[in-house]
Amino acid sequence: MPKLITIVVPVLDEEDSVGPFFEGMAGPLADARARHEGIAFEFLFIDDGSTDATVKRLLGHENPPAPVRIVSLSRNFGKEAALTAGLEEARGDAVIVIDVDLQDPPDLIPQMVARWLAGAPIVLAQRADRSEDGLRKRLTANWFYAVHNRLSRVKIPMNVGDFRLIDRRVVDELNRLPESRRFMKGLFAWVGFPADVIEYKRPARAAGASKFNGRRLWGLAIEGITSFSEAPLVIWSYFGALISAGAISYATYIILRTMIYGTDVPGYASLLVGILFLGGVQLIGIGILGEYVGRIYSEVKRRPSYVVAARHDPADDDGDDRGDDR
Ligand code: UDP
Ligand code: MG
Repeated sequence: MPKLITIVVPVLDEEDSVGPFFEGMAGPLADARARHEGIAFEFLFIDDGSTDATVKRLLGHENPPAPVRIVSLSRNFGKEAALTAGLEEARGDAVIVIDVDLQDPPDLIPQMVARWLAGAPIVLAQRADRSEDGLRKRLTANWFYAVHNRLSRVKIPMNVGDFRLIDRRVVDELNRLPESRRFMKGLFAWVGFPADVIEYKRPARAAGASKFNGRRLWGLAIEGITSFSEAPLVIWSYFGALISAGAISYATYIILRTMIYGTDVPGYASLLVGILFLGGVQLIGIGILGEYVGRIYSEVKRRPSYVVAARHDPADDDGDDRGDDR
C-alpha cells in the first residue's frame, strides 16, 4: 500500500535557505524512496509571516524533490503555532517536522522512515553533540531541561528539537489537544507513545540567522514550564508555611525576652530586613501567579493559534490560490 509522508517545514524569512534545503533533501528522499517501495513525500511549508522572497523562492524552485504545498499564515505567529498549523494541514500517514536551515540533517530521514515502517510511532532525532550552538545556548538549554523535568511530570527528552517523525495516530492525538498556546516539545511528550531515538551532531545553520534571540528563548522556557507544571504555583504555600513557622518562633522569643528583660527599643535593622524580605517574597509569588493568570486569560479567549491567509496546493490546478480553502 502506498504511504505518504508529509514533511512539515516552518519558514520565517528564509529566502536564502530554501535553495540549499531542496538540494539537501533531494538525496535523502530519493534514497528513502529507493529503499522502501510505495513511499511518497510531500512538502508542506508553513510560511509564518515571511516578508522576504521566501514564498517566491519556494514556488519558483525548478524541480523540488517532492510536491510543494504552502500554507501562508496571515502574520508571524511563532514557530509553535506554525508547527500546529503544519500538523493540522498535513495529509500524510506520517509527518516529519524539520527546520529549513539544514540544522536538522536530512540524511537521517531514510533511517527515520525505516524505523517508522518497522513500527515505531515516533522517531526522535537527538542532538548528541551541540558544539555548533554556542556555549551560552547550550548552558541555558541544559538548565532549562533540568528545571523543566524537575518541575513537570511530563519529561521532555534532553536536546531533542522539533525534528522528528510522527505517525498519523500520534498526529491525530496532537490535533485533538484544545489549547491555543502550544509548547510543542511539551505536547509531543504529553501525548506519549514510545519513541525511537536516533543521535546526530547538530550542524551550524546553512544560511541566514537564527530567529531565536535570548529573550524569545526565555519566553519559550517560561511557556514550557508554566504549561506543564503547577509546581511554581503550589510552592508558595510551603514557602509561606516555612516563613510563618519561623515568624512564630521568633515572635515567641521576642515576647519572652521582653517579658524577662524588659523593653528593648533598638530593632530597626531586623524590622527593615523582615519587611523587605517579606515584601520581595510576596511580589515574586504574585508575579508567578500573574504568569498563570495571564495564561488562563489568553486561553479562555479561545482564539485559534493561527490564521491562514493563503494556501498553495499543486493538486488544485485552477491557478488561483485564494479560493482554495478546503
Ligand atoms: N521559524 C518560524 N517562525 C518563527 C521563528 C522561526 O517558522 O517565528 C522557523 C525558521 O524559519 C526555521 C525554524 O523555525 O525553519 C527554526 O528557527 P531557527 O533556525 O531560527 O531556530 P534555532 O535553530 O536557532 O533554534
Ligand atoms: Mg536553526
